[in-house]
Amino acid sequence: MHTRLSEDDLAFQQEVREFLATAWVADTELQERIRNHDTMKAGMIEWQHRLNEKGWMAQHWPVEHGGTGWSVTQGFIFNSERAAVGAPEPIAFGVTMVASVILAYGSDEQKARFLPRILNSEDWWCQGYSEPGAGSDLASLKTKAELEGDEYVINGSKIWTTYAQYADWIFCLVRSDNSGRKQEGITFLLIDMSTPGITVRPIDTIDGFHHLNEVFFDNVRVPVENRIGEEGKGWTYAKSLLVHERLSIAEVADSKRALHEVRELARREINGGDCLLEDALFAKRLTDTEIELMALEYTELRALADIAEGKPPGPESSLLKLQGTEIQQAIQELRMDVVGYYSQALQGDLNTEQFGHDVADLAQKLYFRGRASSIYGGSNEVQKNITAKYVLGL
Ligand SMILES: Cc1cc2nc3c(=O)[nH]c(=O)nc-3n(C[C@H](O)[C@H](O)[C@H](O)COP(=O)(O)OP(=O)(O)OC[C@H]3O[C@@H](n4cnc5c(N)ncnc54)[C@H](O)[C@@H]3O)c2cc1C
Repeated sequence: MHTRLSEDDLAFQQEVREFLATAWVADTELQERIRNHDTMKAGMIEWQHRLNEKGWMAQHWPVEHGGTGWSVTQGFIFNSERAAVGAPEPIAFGVTMVASVILAYGSDEQKARFLPRILNSEDWWCQGYSEPGAGSDLASLKTKAELEGDEYVINGSKIWTTYAQYADWIFCLVRSDNSGRKQEGITFLLIDMSTPGITVRPIDTIDGFHHLNEVFFDNVRVPVENRIGEEGKGWTYAKSLLVHERLSIAEVADSKRALHEVRELARREINGGDCLLEDALFAKRLTDTEIELMALEYTELRALADIAEGKPPGPESSLLKLQGTEIQQAIQELRMDVVGYYSQALQGDLNTEQFGHDVADLAQKLYFRGRASSIYGGSNEVQKNITAKYVLGL
């Protein structure tokens, strides 16, 4: 694998840097809006509009549907540069997750109806897979879909639905048949969140934010034309989406930036004494994490190169998810160590000279939020099972 950039790639890198400098770095007001819980949605939509105007919203879509047509190297350059300045990826539920299923299995009408609206951030999507009692064992899901004429009638509930409170649409796995194996009889539906009979109830999380929800369906009527592919084949479509989801959770470029930030923080002197970077044990943990991250970056590049050659991403994405989230959590723990006992204070109680409130507050938020990354997208224990069975053949 070549690791030096060609002249063309260097020119592309320059173009990316120039775009980010004006569209992101210079706009601190937009950054603040995205950081703020109450304005996050509007801020993200504005950011996604800027990406779309540049033609850079949909990295992995075919060009004829508005994708970038980037080579693996260009995608890598963009992500590295984006993460280096702290700019977020587009929200994955639309452009990465449901779009991958619509592109692979949707009808031409569904492509024409939904893809342009995703590109333009007109629809905010959420994911209705998990249910109480159907998380790791997703195929046990019970939300019922009964066909009446040309509509499905949906009854049941979903849980842990990220950003359902903002969503215009939910892509849902529902049970349309109970007679065969539990993986059979699952149907993949696209449901308009404004349909009568849908209720969203918030679940507050330990980081103090409202990301998660329960979603209840009470006789919700969904037109058959909103079904992806064939009735009862939803498990196949759902699995292909999970592979894309897991690839996006690895967040290698973002971890590189986070690790760099932690290293810079650790250079500061604590209470007039030594800086933590001079502590041999801490420096070793930091370096070990950096080496793991470099190795993961190459694994990610190999997976992307396979995709570029037309091989669909496979169970290796479980490996990336597993290792990527373990590294994220290791970095979050290092950051907590750097801010030391300031990290113990409750949000809003901090007034430190050494580490401004934002630094300690952020360490705490990232740490608590980061506990979830080894659960969502399929827990890490389940990813180990998949890796053992399908990658290692054990
Ligand atoms: C922050 C967050 C956001 C989420 N967002 C969404 C979303 O938007 N949409 C959505 O549909 N879902 C979402 N989820 C749900 C997520 O996918 C599930 O929580 C996850 O799949 C685990 O399911 P569970 O919570 O039911 O735990 P369980 O499946 O009950 O697992 C409990 C424990 O048992 C372990 N375990 C279970 N089975 C096995 C096994 N076979 N071998 C070894 N260990 C096992 C698990 O690893 C875990 O530690 C989100 C979850 C979180 C935390």
